[in-house]
Amino acid sequence: MITVQQTARPTGFPSPEHFTFVEAPEPAPGPGTALVENLYWSVDPYHREMMDGDFELNAPLEGRALGRVVASLDPGLSEGDLVFHRQGWRTHSLVTLGTNGSRKIKPYDGVSLSAYLSILGGTGLTAYVALTRTVQLKPGDDLFVSAAAGGVGTAVARIARLLGAGRIVGSAGSAAKVAHLTEHLGFDAAFDYHDGTVRELLAKAAPEGIDVYVDNVGGDHLEGAIASLRDRGRIAWVGAVAQYNTAEAPAAPRNLFAVVEKSLRLEGVLVRNYTDVQSEFEDFLVPHLQSGHIAPDVTVVEGFERIVEAFLGMLRGENLGKMLVKA
Ligand code: NAP
Repeated sequence: MITVQQTARPTGFPSPEHFTFVEAPEPAPGPGTALVENLYWSVDPYHREMMDGDFELNAPLEGRALGRVVASLDPGLSEGDLVFHRQGWRTHSLVTLGTNGSRKIKPYDGVSLSAYLSILGGTGLTAYVALTRTVQLKPGDDLFVSAAAGGVGTAVARIARLLGAGRIVGSAGSAAKVAHLTEHLGFDAAFDYHDGTVRELLAKAAPEGIDVYVDNVGGDHLEGAIASLRDRGRIAWVGAVAQYNTAEAPAAPRNLFAVVEKSLRLEGVLVRNYTDVQSEFEDFLVPHLQSGHIAPDVTVVEGFERIVEAFLGMLRGENLGKMLVKA
C-alpha cells in the first residue's frame, strides 16, 4: 500500500515538497477491523489548517475516504461493503465500524459513488445543517453564500433552492465560475470577488439586501455580508478559507458592531456535531438525486498519485463543486 505523509510545516501556501509518498506493507486486519481498498478520497480545506501543527510529520496522513472492504474481522462489515471513514490519504486502510466516524454506506439505486463524499457526505450535511439548524432558512429568504462554486457552496445553493429560498447570490474567484453559477446552478446573481470590494459587489448583486449568509470565506466576505444583511438577518459561519494560507490576522470584519445594531445572529457550524442528522438528510435529498433533479457537483482527479496535486489545486480554486480523487 501507499501512504502520503507531510514532511515539513509550510509558511503560507503549501507545495508538493511538503509531502511524500511512502510504500508500506499491506496491513492484515486484526480482530474487530476490516481492510478497505479506497476508491475515492476527499481533499479538504481543513487539511491546510492541520498542516500547521495537528498533523504529525513523517506519519501517514488521514482524511475522508470511501472504500470497499476486501477482508474483514469486524462482525459489522463483510467483503464488498462500502465504507466511509477518515483513514484516507492512503490506498488501503484498516477500519473499525463506528470508530472515528466510520460507517457503512447504504448504497442507493441511481446515486453515484462520488455523491457519498460530496453532496450526500460531510459537504452536503454541512450545507443542510447550516440552512436548517443554524439559520433556519424560511421560504422566500434571500441568501448569499461565499466560495459559492465549491463543494459546500454549491450544496448550499441546491439545498436552499429545495427549501424555497428567495434570491440566491454567490461569490467566486473567476469569471468562468461566476458564469457557471448563474447559467447552470440557478444562482440569481454572482460576482468575482477580485473585481472590487465584497461590500460593494454584494450591494450591487443584492440591492435589496439579504436575510441569510452562509460564510465559507470569512474576512472581507463576512464584512460585506454584515453590511448587506437586513435587520434580524442570520449568519451561518462555516469556514474561513481566506485565512488558511496566511499567518496574518484578518483585518475584516470591521463592522462587527452592526451585529448589535441590526439584531443579527451569527453562529458557527461544525458538521461533526450533527452526525445524528445524516439519516434525516438522506431522506430529504436522496429522492432528488434519484430523480436526477440534482446531481453531485464534483471535480474528480483520477489517480491516487495525484492527491497532493488535487489538494493544492483545491486551495487555489481549481475545483468546481467538491474536489475528489478517484483511484
Ligand atoms: P471548496 O469550497 O470546494 O474549495 C475551497 C474553495 O475556496 C476554492 O475552490 C476557492 O474557490 C476558495 N478560496 C480559496 N482561497 C480563497 C480566498 N482567499 N478567498 C475566497 N475564496 C477562496 O471547499 P469546501 O470543502 O466546500 O469547504 C468550503 C468551506 O467550508 C471551507 O472554509 C471549509 O473549511 C469549510 N467547511 C467547514 C465545515 C464545518 O464543519 N465547519 C465542513 C466542511 C467545510 P474560488 O475560486 O472561488 O476562490
